[in-house]
Amino acid sequence: MTTVTPPSTAPRTVLESVDPATGEVVGAVPITPVESIPAVVAAARRAQVAWSAVPLEKRREILARAAEALSADSSALGTLVTREMGKPLPEGIGEAKHGASAYLEDLAEIARSLAPIDRSDARTCSQLRFDPLGVAAVITPWNFPVLMAQDSVLPALLAGNAIVFKPSEETPLVGDRWAAPIREALRAAGHDEVLQVVHGDEAQGRALVRADVDLVVFTGSRAAGADILSAAAGTLKRVVLELGGKDPLVVLADADLDAAAAFAARNCFRNAGQVCVSTERIYVDRAVSERFTALLVEKARGLRQGAGTEAGVAVGPMVNARQKAMVLRQIEDAVRRGAKVLLGGTAGEGNFVPPTVLVDLDHAMPIMREETFGPVACVMSFRDEEEAVRLANDSPYALGGAVFGSDARATRVAERLTSGMVGVNRGCGGAEGTPWVGARQSGYGFRGGPEGHRQFAQVRVISKTRPSEGA
Ligand code: NAD
Repeated sequence: MTTVTPPSTAPRTVLESVDPATGEVVGAVPITPVESIPAVVAAARRAQVAWSAVPLEKRREILARAAEALSADSSALGTLVTREMGKPLPEGIGEAKHGASAYLEDLAEIARSLAPIDRSDARTCSQLRFDPLGVAAVITPWNFPVLMAQDSVLPALLAGNAIVFKPSEETPLVGDRWAAPIREALRAAGHDEVLQVVHGDEAQGRALVRADVDLVVFTGSRAAGADILSAAAGTLKRVVLELGGKDPLVVLADADLDAAAAFAARNCFRNAGQVCVSTERIYVDRAVSERFTALLVEKARGLRQGAGTEAGVAVGPMVNARQKAMVLRQIEDAVRRGAKVLLGGTAGEGNFVPPTVLVDLDHAMPIMREETFGPVACVMSFRDEEEAVRLANDSPYALGGAVFGSDARATRVAERLTSGMVGVNRGCGGAEGTPWVGARQSGYGFRGGPEGHRQFAQVRVISKTRPSEGA
């Protein structure tokens, strides 16, 4: 008789990171027990006292000491990005190199934003200060594991806060490796424990939000954002929430159709659609929709799919089986309700979903309402500008968006979209110094630019009566 060992009910102690393209284990980290998180936060709070007493310029200088090591490690870090979450190698390495090359300038820009400002009127001289809040929980997703960490951790640290950083459970190795040189620079300057990394999934994230932190800097899904907001309410913790999107692309009849289709192919399928500002809904003037759709299908067909480490691959896998199942569920549901598949539409091997183009859609379908986060282009047509604007704005999400058409018409339509960021004949990212900002349920707070950086600090005003003239 054979005995069957029941599955262990003991909590997992090790988090294995798995390559989504091959299923190979890339490495592992110890999971931070949920019950030890309050102690980690308490240690961060103790360390924050000395860190907050360091002048801003000196803090910047200490953090700047990590720049060389980050730069030297950027190719290896970028390769690890690809191994852990699947994006093509040039994009993984590109992300890490971009982070490393922007590192010093990021610090300089944040420091400029946090410097005190003198404001005076006829009677009062005031100093506007951007002081530390205390301990910040930084919780990040896996889709841009270097840049999301850098954009959140740096302003929070430079503002004089201590940080407890929880990278995504899909990319723990990147989280550790990116933070290591910064932790080393802090340790060498006598500020051990100012930046700590904890590992785990939603359970650790929830415990961290509920611990004694003053600020939660979160990038991730709308559902988790809503949970965080309600958990933060009890003690009125500050929150910065960068959430999901369902970005529209509006293609007007006078658009350069080839450019619009090239943009759509790039922005629907980049990172296998796992980008918060992926184009998830396309609305095309019906006068040109057939031509546009044919161009899009042709370009999508030319994208090679495979493991991110293979040369020439443009589209990698979904990050995990759960994400794959969710994307396929949305596609299958849309097809059941009458959508037509022009390309892809069925499961690939392993975690792969092939680039998919769907038409004959409507807004009753979940695929037009919920974030898909997969390589799917959904094309609908519209009769006139009014309908285009109405459809594009008909979403609880409002992160990014794009409008292609003649400059004047496209600008007019862009101004009427409710998204936080809209590109005219380009993607939605703005110039240096403009914030990354979502509207409606895509976010609560924003990132970048002086106003963005200052959300990581407590604004305070110190005032004196202006000495009277001649006194
Ligand atoms: P996710 O919300 O599942 O997880 C994000 C992080 O939060 C992970 O570290 C996870 O462990 C943790 N977490 C999950 N539930 C939590 C909870 N209730 N309390 C505290 N922590 C919790 O998101 P994901 O799948 O990692 O990332 C994809 C999502 O991130 C998409 O919705 C995407 O649009 C969004 N995103 C937004 C931006 C932006 O700038 N707006 C950028 C990148 C990604």
